[in-house]
Amino acid sequence: MAVRNGDISQDRRVRVQGEPVDSYPQLAPEVERGAVHRITVVGEEILNRRCREVTEFGTPELSQLIDDMFATNQVANGAGLAANQIDVDLQLFVWDIVDDWGVRHVGHIANPVLDEIATEDRVLVEESEGCLSVPGPYRMVPRLDRAVVRGRDKDGNPLVIEGRGYFARCLQHETDHLHGHLYLDRLSKRERKSALREMEGSKEETFARRAAAAKKLGK
Ligand SMILES: [Zn+2]
Repeated sequence: MAVRNGDISQDRRVRVQGEPVDSYPQLAPEVERGAVHRITVVGEEILNRRCREVTEFGTPELSQLIDDMFATNQVANGAGLAANQIDVDLQLFVWDIVDDWGVRHVGHIANPVLDEIATEDRVLVEESEGCLSVPGPYRMVPRLDRAVVRGRDKDGNPLVIEGRGYFARCLQHETDHLHGHLYLDRLSKRERKSALREMEGSKEETFARRAAAAKKLGK
């Protein structure tokens, strides 16, 4: 998901894999180790189908994939990135995002499943949302203001991540990707068309910006 800044909060501790840590580098360590990949664009088939589950954990290949996803997300100035956005057919996404309360969340999750939120607890909020695979436009999208996602970390350990506000939005957006859906699918036909038209006009500029960011990072 494309980045958007949150508001100021009192507790600024970074949450890594859902756990608060007292210090954390500006650039996630995964970014340093990772390679930048091309980001798939709406219309590419891999974005339209459900990804395969991750079945092999604790492998160097899975760690490398996560590093590469972090590096790619970083140079695209993203908030979150799903594996099919770098043309890899696996249920995995990463995030590095500042929420509405100024708290930074960093992590990855494999085989994520969103908890059903009880009807009486469902609060829909409409906010602006963008996607690295739809370079350029942002559109208002209704999402639940709270999300709990359950899956596994790269070593296969169970992981539960809870998000509110903009982070909840990110968890829903990335899980959608792994089911073959884009935020465009949640828009009216007319809005979808206008977003795609806007993308056509701005994508080259976005690609150039990403290339410049990659170069700056030595990637
Ligand atoms: Zn996206």
